[in-house]
Amino acid sequence: MTAKLIDGVALSKKIRAEVAQRVIALGARGIKPGLAVLLVGDSPASQVYVRNKVKACEDAGLKSVLEKYTADFSQTELLARIEALNQDPSIHGILVQLPLPAHIDANLVIEAISPLKDVDGFHVGSAGALMVGQDGFKPCTPYGCMKMLESIGVDPRGKHAVVIGRSNIVGKPMAMMLLQASATVTICHSATPDLAQFTRQADIVVAAVGKRNMLTAEMVKPGAVVIDVGMNRNDEGKLCGDVDFAGVSQVAGWITPVPGGVGPMTITMLLVNTLEAAERAAA
Ligand code: NAP
Repeated sequence: MTAKLIDGVALSKKIRAEVAQRVIALGARGIKPGLAVLLVGDSPASQVYVRNKVKACEDAGLKSVLEKYTADFSQTELLARIEALNQDPSIHGILVQLPLPAHIDANLVIEAISPLKDVDGFHVGSAGALMVGQDGFKPCTPYGCMKMLESIGVDPRGKHAVVIGRSNIVGKPMAMMLLQASATVTICHSATPDLAQFTRQADIVVAAVGKRNMLTAEMVKPGAVVIDVGMNRNDEGKLCGDVDFAGVSQVAGWITPVPGGVGPMTITMLLVNTLEAAERAAA
């Protein structure tokens, strides 16, 4: 079997065009969705991520404000900036780029963001809402994965989904969203013995680990949907995922590429969340 590709670039383009239309509709009511992106420190990777987010906002007609601070910016100053943005009616979404320098408590910072503007979906209020099935902002990466499943007509209901990874930003919310969609969900992690025993039973596998080639062809059930969240570098320095793409694409029914899979969808769902925050504020 040769797997069909789930094209995150094409799906992103479609969703971003829909976002742009809704932004125009809000504009007719005098509202422009606004995202504030806060970056502390000079990590080159973080600089690229925030630049991509800001550009995506501008391309879709949203306002974006990038605030860059040096690595010695204090926690107190950062909390004060967040409080000011919480009160700013022209800002509908606040994103603090992680990781933060060691002297800043990331949990404290995330909890300082108003849940109404928590477009990353990392606030405990958003996590709790997801847990109990209430409306709240969903973390962008797993939200994007759910959109990818929807785009290929795969309904998780009744399927066995195996999520590899249990981080608060990907693995756990991914598992919750699949559960909400009535999949039977198994969560695997670094203490899971014999990972393949679980993945081989899966109709849907989501790999969110951060180790290349950790999911190989013999670990995948023929026809399964394989979503690769991982972002790693291969020996040539090229971006690659957690999945052995060449091998697994011979067995799976559907597969996401890296690059061009989950990555673009993450930014797309950030735009969707920011737009929805503005629409909710205007309602
Ligand atoms: P993380 O916080 O480091 O979590 C990694 C998870 O993988 C942990 O739960 C860990 O288990 C588990 N794990 C490690 N080794 C394992 C093994 N041998 N078998 C099974 N599970 C194992 O990472 P993250 O933030 O969730 O990100 C995961 C990957 O996705 C990274 O490559 C990251 O760069 C990428 N990512 C991509 C996007 C995107 O937009 N494409 C967005 C976010 C993240 P323990 O909990 O037991 O340690």
